[in-house]
This record gives sequence, structure tokens and C-alpha cells, in this order.
Amino acid sequence: MKNNKIAQIIEYFDEILPNASCELIYHSDYELLIAVMLSAQTTDKKVNAVTALLFSRFPTLEALKNAPLAELEEIIKPLGLFKNKACNIKAIANSLLLNYDGKVPNSRDLLVEMNGVGRKTANVVLAELFKEPHIAVDTHVERISKRLELVDEIASPLQVEQKLEKLFPTERYILTHHQFIHFGRYYCKAQKPMCDVCKLTRYCKYYKKKVKM
Ligand code: SF4
Repeated sequence: MKNNKIAQIIEYFDEILPNASCELIYHSDYELLIAVMLSAQTTDKKVNAVTALLFSRFPTLEALKNAPLAELEEIIKPLGLFKNKACNIKAIANSLLLNYDGKVPNSRDLLVEMNGVGRKTANVVLAELFKEPHIAVDTHVERISKRLELVDEIASPLQVEQKLEKLFPTERYILTHHQFIHFGRYYCKAQKPMCDVCKLTRYCKYYKKKVKM
């Protein structure tokens, strides 16, 4: 059952989202790391608008490390959680310069030691920069996994990650991650998902419940 279900999910995602990829705009490894950190609880579109200004005003790690906190806060205010995020920018820049010669380390253990960098952010960075196979679990990935009953309703983000990595082929992890995110952003939205055009209704707990109502 599982194999057939996963095969159909893969086939459908390849049909509607064959080229799903990272939508954050970045020009260096540290710009990506900071952009992913900033993307917590906001949209990539807003992050891209803010980072364009942020990285032109402070174009090096040195400049970010020494940036006045109040100025950073003002720039990233539209993203929410701006006080923490502004501190994180300075701390990440400082850590990269101090410990890693200005380069983003290729290690989840080292990445998660940095301020504001959790497992999800580390997985995104490792997959995007180093093409390491990981499935990063954000709110979209978690919601879709639960609606399609790939995981239990009470599964934690870590449990979702581990289950998806068992169900999907390793060579597809990075694409699968982006396909889940794009599916969640543009089709299977939290509110008013586009069930009318979805080909996964037979597997969907949310849909079955909605039809019964
Ligand atoms: S049927 Fe609706 S809720 Fe279910 S996966 Fe498709 S779009 Fe999402």
C-alpha cells in the first residue's frame, strides 16, 4: 500500500511541481544561512525583500558583525521576531568569522550551535549548499504529511523528518522537500486548500473529513 501511495504522490508532484527549488535569493553561503534563519514564521517573499536591503547595506560578514543592532532591527522589522533575528545575524556573522574562516560549515552539529539555527535551518542549508540529502520539515511539510497520513497526527517535526526519509528514496530527498513546500504554499494551503484540483484526495484525511461534513 505504502509503496503505491508514495509512488502516486511522487508522480503527482513531478507532474505539477517538476522544478520545485529554493525560492530564497542569495549570493553567498552566509547569505543563504542568514536568509533561512530569517525565514522563521514569515514568507520567503518578505525575506527576499528584506535581505536585498540588508546585504546591500551590510555587504560583508565583517559589516554584519559590526552593524548597529538598532539599524538591523529597523531593516528586518517586517519579518517579525526582529529583535531576536537581529541578534542572531550578528552572532552568526561573528561565529563564522571567528570559528570557520568566514565559511558556512558542512556539518549539522556545528550549524545548530549557532544562534537561531535549528535542525530545520541546518537541513535546508546542507541540502542547498552541499547537496546533502535531507528533508527539512517546516510547517508546510508537516501539514501535508499529516493530511496525507504519512505520519501520525501527533508526530513531532523530527518524527516527520525521519518518517519521510524512510518513505521516499534518498536521491529524491531534496526535490521532495521543495515539492512539499511548494505544494503547501500554492495548492494545499493551511486555509482553503485547492482540493477540487488535487489528485491525492483518496489519501487525504482532511478531504475525507470535509466531504463527510
Ligand atoms: S485533497 Fe486538499 S487537503 Fe488533501 S492534499 Fe489535496 S489539496 Fe491538500
